[in-house]
Amino acid sequence: MVSRREFLAGLASVACPIAPARAQSKPDVIVIGAGMAGLAAARALTERGIATLVLEARARIGGRVWTSTSWPGVPVDLGASWIHGTVGNPLTRLADAAGVPLRQTRWDPNPVFAPGGGRVNIDDAAERAEALIDTARARAEAREADISLGRAVEALPDWAGLDHEMRRRVRHVVHAEIELDYAAGWQELSAWNFDDSGDYGGADALFPKGYGALPAHLAQGLEVQTGAAVVRIEKAGGGVRVVTGTGAVHQARHALVTVPLGVLKAGTIGFSHPLGKARRAAIDGLGMGLMNKCCLRFGRVFWPQSGDVFSYLGARDGHWAQWLSLSAISGEPVLMGFNAAVAARDIEALDDAATIADAMTVLRSIFGQSVPDPVAAQISRWGGDPFALGAYSFAAVGSGRETRQALAGADWDGRLVFAGEATHADHPATVHGAYLSGEDAAGWIAG
Ligand SMILES: Cc1cc2nc3c(=O)[nH]c(=O)nc-3n(C[C@H](O)[C@H](O)[C@H](O)COP(=O)(O)OP(=O)(O)OC[C@H]3O[C@@H](n4cnc5c(N)ncnc54)[C@H](O)[C@@H]3O)c2cc1C
Repeated sequence: MVSRREFLAGLASVACPIAPARAQSKPDVIVIGAGMAGLAAARALTERGIATLVLEARARIGGRVWTSTSWPGVPVDLGASWIHGTVGNPLTRLADAAGVPLRQTRWDPNPVFAPGGGRVNIDDAAERAEALIDTARARAEAREADISLGRAVEALPDWAGLDHEMRRRVRHVVHAEIELDYAAGWQELSAWNFDDSGDYGGADALFPKGYGALPAHLAQGLEVQTGAAVVRIEKAGGGVRVVTGTGAVHQARHALVTVPLGVLKAGTIGFSHPLGKARRAAIDGLGMGLMNKCCLRFGRVFWPQSGDVFSYLGARDGHWAQWLSLSAISGEPVLMGFNAAVAARDIEALDDAATIADAMTVLRSIFGQSVPDPVAAQISRWGGDPFALGAYSFAAVGSGRETRQALAGADWDGRLVFAGEATHADHPATVHGAYLSGEDAAGWIAG
């Protein structure tokens, strides 16, 4: 638990009044992207009296923190859901300063259902998966070059010795414990560095009123232009010129780029001069993963209520493998189904009706044909979202913390600075990592 003194100290630092922004037309810094990284940076810069303008492509702020309000009274987080580890996490302090409640997730019990509704015991598979991963990693580390986690495991005699059923169960554990966390398949993840990130202690917490309260809190008093998609950044005089899709041109001393790795990979933003070699290699080398959510609202609860989650082990790897019940936090019969990596790519290709039908086949297979149709659904498609092009970054084969460090920081003699979750070596792929990367970039710019 965070002590009361820590809470009060946090409140003092977060809630202090910010200096008014200077003239909008001549900012010192243009921040590109109003996600957690961009807003944290803009807030820290503004608090230091540095005039900052935030340009955001979407009609809303928050980026991959996105609370849908389509269902009145039932906020649905279609991007990030959890504060991962509340103790020592800067977001816990921020949530407190914003006055928003948190609710611990009950991960236990987490029954694993088979088609037909029987329970699958995965205790043995979990032990084997752990042993296989440990051995595979040790063997991979002894190699000259990185390989994928999947290849490293599949090369082991212990894997070859497993029968078909045990392999399926081990794959389920790997999917639940690794692929869902890192939004990438084991054939894509680096055996050396797939889990090379720091943790905070304490529980995982959800936002009953929506994660969007955090970006909204950060954005207070900041100069943010939405609907401003940046298409080009140029060197100009001693600073930069930033051009948007509407033809608007803004000048500043620095541009801080916080767009997702997927957007950098796609090259949607043109740079007048080449980026540093290591940074370019980092953009190419890191992976951008995929995870999607399908939120189904029902007329009644038909799933177990003793915990907040249940799992599914069907014929296809990772297919609708994890479900989160939102009934305890929203008071409404709402289920959120997760798909990551290969399963997410397959399902993202389906339209709404086909996605819902696919999910319902699984739920009816577990809980019976009397399960009612959902009364409403909300579905994320982060892979096709032009301002994300994926869910979050992962350590692809050959990449790791040094790759992230090469992506972070300054280019073009300090005029161009990069932040965002993919740049944070200690806490990548998280909201807190994005937030911390924004604060780091602001510190760098402010000197
Ligand atoms: C489905 C899903 C579930 C997740 N679950 C969790 C979780 O439970 N816990 C957790 O900690 N993390 C989770 N994450 C990861 C977390 O959401 C991200 O790491 C974090 O929000 C990224 O913040 P960011 O500021 O780096 O990027 P973003 O939030 O993506 O912000 C970048 C901004 O740049 C904007 N932009 C893009 N292109 C342009 C352009 N050309 N011009 C101007 N603006 C542009 C985007 O619209 C966006 O607003 C999840 C992510 C997803 C997608």
